[in-house]
Amino acid sequence: MAAPPAVRRQTASSRPPTRRLRCRLAGAHILEHTPVTRVELGASAHKLHTARGSVTAKNIVLAGSAYMPRLAGARRVSRAVLPVMTYACVTEPLGDRLHHVMRAPHAVTDSRFACDYYRPLSDGRILWGGRIDCLGIEPSRLADKLHADMCVVYPQLADVRVDVAWPGVMGYARHKMPLLGKLPDVPGVWYATGFGGHGVCPTTVAGELIAAAIAGTEVCVRVRVHVRVCVRVCVRAVLACSCCVPAPPPPSVMPLCVQRATSVTSCSSRSGY
Ligand SMILES: Cc1cc2nc3c(=O)[nH]c(=O)nc-3n(C[C@H](O)[C@H](O)[C@H](O)COP(=O)(O)OP(=O)(O)OC[C@H]3O[C@@H](n4cnc5c(N)ncnc54)[C@H](O)[C@@H]3O)c2cc1C
Repeated sequence: MAAPPAVRRQTASSRPPTRRLRCRLAGAHILEHTPVTRVELGASAHKLHTARGSVTAKNIVLAGSAYMPRLAGARRVSRAVLPVMTYACVTEPLGDRLHHVMRAPHAVTDSRFACDYYRPLSDGRILWGGRIDCLGIEPSRLADKLHADMCVVYPQLADVRVDVAWPGVMGYARHKMPLLGKLPDVPGVWYATGFGGHGVCPTTVAGELIAAAIAGTEVCVRVRVHVRVCVRVCVRAVLACSCCVPAPPPPSVMPLCVQRATSVTSCSSRSGY
């Protein structure tokens, strides 16, 4: 999920580029701003068409969430995913007022299905997320709506300005479980999608499982035991993967992946939020 420019500026220098660097050192090419416009499936290799050229690969992973409904060649996967909008915003810096509102540096969430979640940022702003719907909110009204939600919890923030608000799309499967697997009748077409409601952590776990399944190697899904939420999310993802029955497409690989997740001891995933 792309962060808005203002937030990206704050975090870019503090985030070590380790994962990206490791990919490059391993010989991977990361092509940003290059949307795939068509997937041409072949018997032994597949061609991904873009406006800047094409890439041919023996294995491809369809992981475009709900952003690829019209992607030719990928519809068997994309039609199993329902696009659901959700929203986030960042307030102006609150200075000393922040400590009268939130005294702990932690993220907070409630237990509703469409929950509010929020945390203080290091520069004294509040990052606030919440709401889901299928139709979207008029962009000019988005900041006001999120601010109104914030004031339900913190009425003392009524005069605080929202500096930036943004929408995004999450992909939900019908059974609300992630879809993770391999098309049964086309060699080398994998999918990892439908993570709506599960957040960022399980997407990393899914990436490691799919990569290991493609490479035919063992994978150890590590869970950091002192972060209970992380444990719950990661374990839930693995369990969800083992029992997900997407329709379409049917999974054929998860028993293999779960079998290869040989131990659950500590977590390599970070949500980045
Ligand atoms: C506003 C908002 C706030 C959220 N807040 C949180 C939070 O606080 N904590 C949390 O854990 N989760 C949060 N989520 C949910 C989280 O972002 C998702 O669960 C997670 O990103 C899903 O991961 P994904 O890889 O399946 O999809 P995405 O992260 O959406 O990634 C899909 C990728 O596919 C790319 N793509 C799509 N089509 C193409 C194409 N044709 N060619 C090439 N690339 C393509 C997109 O550019 C995108 O990078 C939030 C989501 C939104 C929208």
